[in-house]
Amino acid sequence: MFTSEGVADKSSLQFHERFSMSVEFNKLRKRIRRLAGQAVVDYGMIEEGDLVMVCLSGGADSYTMLDSLLYLREVAPINFDVVAVNLDQKQPGFPEDILPAYLTQLNVPFRVIEEDTYSIVKEKVPEGKTTCALCSRLRRGILYRTAVELGATKVALGHHRDDILETLLLNMFFGGKLKTMPPKLVSDDGRNVVIRPLAYCNERDIKAYSAAMNFPIIPCNLCGSQPNLQRRAMKEMIQEWDRRFPGRSDNMFRALTDVVPSHLLDRKLHDFNTPAKVSGELDDVSNWLAAPNEPSEVVVAPIRLMPGTSTIGSSAS
Ligand code: SF4
Repeated sequence: MFTSEGVADKSSLQFHERFSMSVEFNKLRKRIRRLAGQAVVDYGMIEEGDLVMVCLSGGADSYTMLDSLLYLREVAPINFDVVAVNLDQKQPGFPEDILPAYLTQLNVPFRVIEEDTYSIVKEKVPEGKTTCALCSRLRRGILYRTAVELGATKVALGHHRDDILETLLLNMFFGGKLKTMPPKLVSDDGRNVVIRPLAYCNERDIKAYSAAMNFPIIPCNLCGSQPNLQRRAMKEMIQEWDRRFPGRSDNMFRALTDVVPSHLLDRKLHDFNTPAKVSGELDDVSNWLAAPNEPSEVVVAPIRLMPGTSTIGSSAS
């Protein structure tokens, strides 16, 4: 076990040993593995014979993803393999021995790519501006190219449920788009299939698991970039909502899995010129949450029953 400097830390080892044997830890590990397995199955992320390239940055998310995929490789009813890839971006002070030592200890095949994106980003982005957008674009290009070189059929990224929700809000608030990070997508050039096995796992669990496992974390601020303030604001907003209205972020996430195109405004997704189907509209939560004076999107119109009987309300659109 290593610290971020790559040396064993006694107190954290003791914590790790105590916690890793506890009932809570077992529950946490089971939950993460179950949710990762569920996401993999739900979105058809991994198929027989796949070589999954696990992008390992040295952060808690990527270690947890690798750990989950190694577990799934053992128990899944299909055969697939894993190769870990780390991109050394030549940030000052990058501890280049940590990941090779960790992966060797686990007997996981790996490749470290050395590309000085740090200098490019420093040169291109004006002082004081956030560097993450260009840095991520460069990194993504290098990782995709490496996946092709390695013959990897899937590229696994460590984004989790909270990343997905934050990205949803960022896109809505700043981009005017209803979109987020999908659990699986094909790259623009069609050469890579990107998967996010931790899509169902929440950040709190991942952080707790990473601490319990004593993963040798490599700090993500070596580049000296300012933290992404907008993303942080989204995170804090979601956390505050969850404090005030427990379960709200779960509902937001569930909403992403249950989209009703006919009840949005995108004419590319729904033909509004043909009569809409009415099924399910009475279950629409917005109907009974609408304030008394707000128009509901469902018009309640009387329908006539058989002659001699009374009338009842029904929805129509
Ligand atoms: S924090 Fe630094 S290394 Fe990470 S994406 Fe931003 S610029 Fe790149």
